[in-house]
Amino acid sequence: YTHKTPSDYIATILGNIQISDAHSLPVVIRENCSVYNAIVTMFTEDVSTIMIVSEGGFLEGVVSRKDLLKASMGDRNLTELPVKVAMTRMPNIIVTTPDEPVLDAAKKLLNHQVDALPVVKVVVVDKTEKLQVVGRFTKTNITRLFVQLADTGYSI
Ligand code: ADP
Repeated sequence: YTHKTPSDYIATILGNIQISDAHSLPVVIRENCSVYNAIVTMFTEDVSTIMIVSEGGFLEGVVSRKDLLKASMGDRNLTELPVKVAMTRMPNIIVTTPDEPVLDAAKKLLNHQVDALPVVKVVVVDKTEKLQVVGRFTKTNITRLFVQLADTGYSI
């Protein structure tokens, strides 16, 4: 028999749970949206990261609370200012996929110091790969999973 440490068990469990078991619905806006509308969406949808998509739901960028705070400083008209100027854009977006183990995605959140990852499916449009946004994976999802594992457990 092989001797398993508690850390082996935790790694096995978290390595077996996939993003598709733990992610949330995406909150997206179009790339021509204003900074003002992005801020309103952040409040009404109660999220801290919004994904910016083109027609068809393809990932263009993400905008965080601090991005919008920064864009709000100074004397600019936020209803006229496109969210595009404030977002972090592709290809610099760290993403996850439905079949990725949550442990790997959690490491991405830590290593890149971000709060959320877009969950994407790769689709080929006109011979180019595009990322279709199907969800978001956040630190809250990890907290929920953490509590669920303690409350209801997990069978390996
Ligand atoms: P906040 O800035 O509100 O603390 P984050 O720490 O998530 O939120 O974001 C820090 C920076 O990283 C922001 O400029 C944001 O646009 C960018 N960012 C957020 N999520 C991602 C991601 N998944 N991939 C790449 N950059 C991201």
